[in-house]
Amino acid sequence: MKITLAKHTGFCFGVRKAIEKAYQTLKEHKRKKSVFMLGEIVHNEKVINELKKEGLELVSSLKEVPSHSILILKAHGTEKEIYEESQGKDIKLIDATCPMVKEIHRKALYLEKKGHKIVIFGDKNHAEIKALISYLKDFIVIEKKKELKDKELSGKIALLLQSTQSLEESLEILKILKKTNPQTLFINTICPDAQARQKEVIKLSKNNDKVIVVGSKKSANTRRLYKLSKKYNKNTYWLNRAESIKKNNFGKEDRIAIISGASTPKETVEKIIKRLKKLYSE
Ligand code: SF4
Repeated sequence: MKITLAKHTGFCFGVRKAIEKAYQTLKEHKRKKSVFMLGEIVHNEKVINELKKEGLELVSSLKEVPSHSILILKAHGTEKEIYEESQGKDIKLIDATCPMVKEIHRKALYLEKKGHKIVIFGDKNHAEIKALISYLKDFIVIEKKKELKDKELSGKIALLLQSTQSLEESLEILKILKKTNPQTLFINTICPDAQARQKEVIKLSKNNDKVIVVGSKKSANTRRLYKLSKKYNKNTYWLNRAESIKKNNFGKEDRIAIISGASTPKETVEKIIKRLKKLYSE
């Protein structure tokens, strides 16, 4: 078995920063105050469970956070209302929003101010998109090309993307928009890390017999890597833990590429490699 590990594995910069902030906050405050996270700060079960063990409490609404406590906001961004409401409750916010995500908010607000309707290509239910639209008034969110059929868009339009969006699919959306709105502005807000992983997974999927994409089923960027890889290589597997490897999925002669989503610890990838070596060298 030949295993090729992608250059881009383990945490991206934004996820690493958010996790570091959470541990730092716990270290400084947990003896004196309760520390909460509003939603999972990153999309990985292992990371979240370890933070919970250290004392970080997970809540799903601001109502569950008592006054005088500390609240860590997730890497994907948080709705505008949460910032406003927490002020009235005397809650100290630790903002772990990724700077790349904040940059998308800034660009969207700027373009809206300049009179553009903001067309967002992203997952309506993803935390990043929910946060982004909380700042906007004139926007639509589309998840699939076909949704554009029912939309009559006129005037100035700017297309912005979820930070982990697929560039290939985004360009298809742009093409459709340009048919009726040739002046559509395209703002590529896919984060450089996500783009690099996408490029790499395409290359790896073409040059290997099989591909393993490692990451949580909740992780949007892992899902996109999986979908992209599957497009070019049907022998693509999405795993979140070494124990999920099924022996009959792989063989001793396989050339296998491994890549991870941006919220996957390197340790998980290493365990998968170790198990593959153990299973196929015996
Ligand atoms: S994938 Fe990019 S935008 Fe998302 S958290 Fe990581 S660095 Fe930030």
